[in-house]
Amino acid sequence: MKITYSIVAPIYNEIENLPELYHRVKEVMDSSGETWELILVDDGSTDGSTDKIRELAKKDKCVRPVIFARNFGHQVAITAGWDYARGDAIVIIDADLQDPPEVILELAKKWREGYEVVYAVRAEREGETWFKTFTASMFYRLIQKITDVKIPVDTGDFRLMDRKVVDVLKQMRERHRFPRGMSAWVGFRQIGVEYKRAARMAGATKYPFRKMLKLALNAITSFSYFPLQVATFFGFVSAGIAIIAIPVVVYMRASGSQAFFGQATTLIAVLFLGGVQLISLGILGEYIGRLYDEAKGRPLYIVRDAPED
Ligand code: UDP
Ligand code: MG
Repeated sequence: MKITYSIVAPIYNEIENLPELYHRVKEVMDSSGETWELILVDDGSTDGSTDKIRELAKKDKCVRPVIFARNFGHQVAITAGWDYARGDAIVIIDADLQDPPEVILELAKKWREGYEVVYAVRAEREGETWFKTFTASMFYRLIQKITDVKIPVDTGDFRLMDRKVVDVLKQMRERHRFPRGMSAWVGFRQIGVEYKRAARMAGATKYPFRKMLKLALNAITSFSYFPLQVATFFGFVSAGIAIIAIPVVVYMRASGSQAFFGQATTLIAVLFLGGVQLISLGILGEYIGRLYDEAKGRPLYIVRDAPED
C-alpha cells in the first residue's frame, strides 16, 4: 500500500502521553483522507512505554514500532524514524503533545504547494520556565550568527519533509547530530509555518540543562569552526601583546624604571597564557573526540524490534 504521510514520534518514557498522542494523530490524519503511518521510536524507555507501543501496534496496523536496544537520544531516534518511514512526506513530532498534531495539516498544505521542507516556528511557548525559553532563544540566535548554514530561529524538530529530502538526510550518518541543522543544510525549497507550542501534557521534560548544553555543543561543532577561530584569535592577541610589551620593558629597564619588577607580573602572564592554551587544547579536543567517534564507524543505533513489514 502506498503511504502518503509518515508521522515519526521519538518516545522516551512517555507512557501517559502515548494514548492521547495516538488518538489525536489518528483523528487528524484520518480527516486528511490520505494514507498514513505513525512510527513510534522507543528510545530505551523504562516506564512501560515499550509495551504500550506494542499494544497500540497490535490494535492498529497504522502504528509501526521501532524499539531501540537502549537509550540512544532524541536525535538518533529521529534518524531511525527517517530510516523506517515509507511515506511521501515525513513529519517529526514530539510525543508530549507540545507540537499539536492538528498543525500537521497546515504543514501538509504548504507541502502541497510545492515546498519540500515545511518547518514549524514557535510563535509562542506555553508552560515552560523563563530560563528554558531564554536559553533556547539565545541558543537559536548564537547558532544563527556563527554557522554558515542558515538555521531558522525558534524552530525545533517539528517539521514536514518531502521524501526527496529524507532520502538525502538518510545518507548523512554523522554521529553527533543536529537534525534541524541538517535539514536546513540540504537546501531545497523551505518555508516556516508559525504555531503555538503547547505545554507538555504529562510527565517531565527529558531535556535537563546538561542535555541542552550537549545539544548546543553538538550543533556548534557540527556546523562551524567558530570555537577554533576564537582560539586562534586569542593566540594572535597574546602574541601581539608580547610583541608590544618586549621593547617597552627593555626600554624601561634600560632607562632605570622600577616598573615590572617582581614575581607577580610573571605569574599573571604565565597563568593567563596557561589558561588560554588549556582552553584551546580543550576546544581542539572536542573536535578530535568527535573525529574519533566518527572513525569508529559504529552503527548509529541498535534496534531490538523493527516493524514487521
Ligand atoms: N526523547 C527521546 N530520547 C531522549 C530524550 C527525549 O526520544 O533521550 C523524546 C521525548 O520522549 C519527546 C521528545 O524527545 O518525545 C522531546 O523531549 P522533551 O519533550 O523532553 O524535550 P523538551 O520539549 O522539553 O525540549
Ligand atoms: Mg517537550
